[in-house]
Amino acid sequence: MKKIAFFDTKPYDKIYFDKFKDEFGFEIKYFESKLNPDTAYIAGKYDAVCAFVNDDLGKDTVNELYDNGINIVAMRCAGYNNVDFKEAYGKVHVVRVPAYSPYAVAEHTMALLLCLNRKIHRAFNRTREYNFSLNSLIGFDLNQKTIGVVGTGKIGRTFINICKGFGLNVIAYDAFPQKNTDINYVTLDELFEKSDIISLHCPLTKETHHMINEKTIEKMKKGVYILNTSRGSLIDSEALLNALKSKKIGAAGLDVYEEETEFFYEDFSYKIINDDILSGLIAMPNVIITSHQAFLTHEALKNIAYVTLSNLSRYFNNEFLENEICYKCQKYGKCDREKEKRCF
Ligand code: NAD
Repeated sequence: MKKIAFFDTKPYDKIYFDKFKDEFGFEIKYFESKLNPDTAYIAGKYDAVCAFVNDDLGKDTVNELYDNGINIVAMRCAGYNNVDFKEAYGKVHVVRVPAYSPYAVAEHTMALLLCLNRKIHRAFNRTREYNFSLNSLIGFDLNQKTIGVVGTGKIGRTFINICKGFGLNVIAYDAFPQKNTDINYVTLDELFEKSDIISLHCPLTKETHHMINEKTIEKMKKGVYILNTSRGSLIDSEALLNALKSKKIGAAGLDVYEEETEFFYEDFSYKIINDDILSGLIAMPNVIITSHQAFLTHEALKNIAYVTLSNLSRYFNNEFLENEICYKCQKYGKCDREKEKRCF
């Protein structure tokens, strides 16, 4: 029976992995520690590693895993900006779950928007204190407002459909636009200039790092709402905080934060947070932060567990690894996988 070292485990991870592990014939050892160069040696006794968004799969970790006999890492997520693919190539195969529920993330994005706009977070706190005043709770109709969606992949398109149901006028930007679609594509500058609300659904890459920064914020409408359920580093958080203070940005709904690795998924309620930008954002009445929870639905967790275990089963049974990813297939759109069943 093949053994999996499962890093950064939370109780909700176990529900569906435990349910499906016997079906695929795996034994899973759950570790609470995150994967990083200091913890990678633990994997030495196992056949495979399972990792998540805030695990560190940089050069040192990849080499430590490889030196400890690990040749396969199964990411139980869609994003992979935390993996050094160049270093992994030829050493460690990396598989992922490209789509587990675009609805989970798209619906959470709309939840953030509705909550921010209609001040639900503030109303909730008020009525618990028997304060039934409506002062400063005015929102705006979403109907006929313009929303700019950056990234029109699986989640972006699902979100666009939800927005259309609200009567929002949707414009979009994608570096690789969909063909044969009714999506109204504009340039990124046009999107920044015209949108009342901007929602980010593109991956974190060198090109998209800090795509929302001091300069791009200048191009936006005063009072624009920013939504980010994609990756924290798409936004320069200091620029965001300054723009919220100056009221150039009207509100922000964030499920991700660029320095989230240290904090998100952990309980800091009894500790001092030594991140002034995060503290500043949390202190704002017009900012809602959720800790990378947009994926967290039963449907998504079930799909994540099933596809992750199926990816590993395919690897060990020498089958075609449809969900493998390497720097070549990312950069050139293809690699040896079509011929050789796997990327190298
Ligand atoms: P996807 O691959 O289906 O779509 C990504 C889209 O972004 C593609 O259309 C692509 O062409 C576009 N894109 C690539 N580079 C771009 C650029 N420079 N500018 C604009 N667009 C660009 O991915 P998806 O499944 O829709 O997921 C989108 C992102 O959502 C992921 O990269 C991940 O970071 C994030 N995500 C977050 C959570 C969460 O829980 N918060 C869960 C899953 C995914």
